[in-house]
Amino acid sequence: MTITTSLSGDLQSQVAKASRMLIGSDWVESASGETIDVFNPSTGAVVAKSAAGGAVDVDRAVAAARTALRGPWSTVTPSQRGRMIARLAELVERDAETLAQLESLDVGMPIMEARYIDVPFSVDILHYYSGWPTKITGDTIPVSFPHNFGGPYHAYTRREPVGVVAAIIPWNLPLMMAIKKLAPALATGNTIVIKPAEQTPLVMARLAELILEAGIPEGVVNYVTGLGESAGAALVNHPGVNKVTFTGSVETGKAIARAATGTLKRVSLELGGKSPNIIFNDADLERSIVSAGMAIFAGQGESCIAGSRLYAQREVYDEVLAGLAARASSIKLGPGLDDASEMGPLISADHRDKVLGYLDLSKQEGRVVAGGEAWGDQGYFVQPTVVTDLGPDSRVLREEIFGPVLSVVPFDTEEEVTALANASDFGLGAGVWTQDVGRAHRMAASIEAGQVWVNCYQAVDAALPFGGYKQSGWGRETCKESLDDFLELKTVVVHL
Ligand code: ADP
Repeated sequence: MTITTSLSGDLQSQVAKASRMLIGSDWVESASGETIDVFNPSTGAVVAKSAAGGAVDVDRAVAAARTALRGPWSTVTPSQRGRMIARLAELVERDAETLAQLESLDVGMPIMEARYIDVPFSVDILHYYSGWPTKITGDTIPVSFPHNFGGPYHAYTRREPVGVVAAIIPWNLPLMMAIKKLAPALATGNTIVIKPAEQTPLVMARLAELILEAGIPEGVVNYVTGLGESAGAALVNHPGVNKVTFTGSVETGKAIARAATGTLKRVSLELGGKSPNIIFNDADLERSIVSAGMAIFAGQGESCIAGSRLYAQREVYDEVLAGLAARASSIKLGPGLDDASEMGPLISADHRDKVLGYLDLSKQEGRVVAGGEAWGDQGYFVQPTVVTDLGPDSRVLREEIFGPVLSVVPFDTEEEVTALANASDFGLGAGVWTQDVGRAHRMAASIEAGQVWVNCYQAVDAALPFGGYKQSGWGRETCKESLDDFLELKTVVVHL
C-alpha cells in the first residue's frame, strides 16, 4: 500500500511555521540556527523542520516570562484573566478542524480521535479553568496568640502565583497536554514556557497564534521547541523557573525530579501506567469487551491510561479473549488523516522498533492470539495485538509498552485479582466491570490507582482529578486541587 498525504494549502502553511518559536513578542528561529526533522509517522516522510531550541533560547524565553510576570500580566484582573482563557477556548473551537489535522498529521492519530477527543477536551479544559481566576481566595484565620503578644492581630492567607512555570509536553496528545498545563498556569496568574516534544511540534505554532489573538499579553506564554536533553534540561535546571509540570515517561520524570532538586523547583509529574481492566463473570460482556478494546487500542495504545492488562474471571475468560482477538483483527489501520482509519501508526521508527521488540517477547513469554507483527510497508504501523498465557513475571505483563498490545489473564477470586492488579510499580487507571454494587465499591477502594472506572473506562473530565499513585506520578491535573500546584500560600499577620 502506498500512502500519500497531500496537505491543503492552509495546513501546509501552518506546518511551515514549525521552524519558529514564540519568545516574548518575537517569532524566532533557534539561536544556533539548527533544526530537527519532523516526520509524518504515517509515511516516514519529513514534513517539516522545527527549531532546535537550546539553552540560549530557553534563557531568553524565561527572561520574557519573568518580565511579563512582573509587568503587564500582574495588572490583569482575575475577571479579565478568566475571559482571556474563555476566549482562547472559543478560538480553539473555531479552529478545531485545523488543529485536529495538525495533531493527526504530527502524531499519526486517526483524525476522528483528534476531532472528537483531543480538540473538544482541550476546549473543555480551557472553559473549566476560565471560571477559576475569580474564585482563588485565601482565608481569614483566627489566631490564639494576641493575649500573650499584646494583640489584637488580624491574620489571613494569600494565594499567589508560583512565578514562571516550565511545561514539558509529551508527543501523544500535544494540543491537549499543552492546554492541560497552560490553562491552570494562566488561571492562577503564572507565566509559562512550554516545550513541546521534539517529535510533535506542529500544533504549537497555531496554538500560540490563538493565545495572542485571545488577548493574552506577549511574554505570558512562550514556547521553545527542541530536544529533551538540551531545551528540556535547560528549562528544568534554569534558576528563573519556579515550577516544572511534566507529562511523559517514568524514566524522564525521574531525571527531571532529580535535576529539579538543584534549585528545589516545584515538580508535578504525570507518568506512565500499566493499568488493569477487570471483567468479572457478572459483567455486561458485550459492553465490557468493546470498551476494553478501546481502552487499549485507542490512540494506538500510546496512552498513559491504556488498559493494557486485562483480567477476565475464569467463566468468561474464553469469551473475553475471543472477543478482544476479534476486535483487534477487525481494526482498520491507516494514515492518521484518512477519515476511515481506526488506528494510526506509532510515533516514530524507534518507538515502533521498541514495540516490535515486545511483540517478539510476547511470542516467547506467552501466546499471541491476534496481531503480533508490523503492518504495511510505509510508516510506523504495528498490528493491534492480544497476548495470553503470560506468567506473573512476564515483562510484557509488567512493563509499560505504550503501544497496541493487550495482555489477557484469567483469575478466580476478587481477592486474587486485587492482588494481581496491585502488583505493579504503576497506579494510574483501573477498570472494574461488574453488576454487583458491593463488589464495585470494594474494588474501587482496594485498587491502588489515581482513577478507578466502574463499568466504563477512560472517563476523564476537566473537573475530575487526574493523576497517579506510586510511580505513575506526583500531583493531580484538571480538577480544583490542581490549582494548588501552581500557587504559593502566603500567611500575613497584622498587628492592629
Ligand atoms: P519519550 O521517551 O517517549 O520520547 P519522554 O518522556 O522522554 O518520552 O519525553 C517527554 C518530553 O520530555 C518531551 O518533550 C522530551 O523532549 C522531554 N524530555 C526528555 N528528556 C528530558 C530531560 N532530560 N529533561 C527535560 N525534558 C526532557
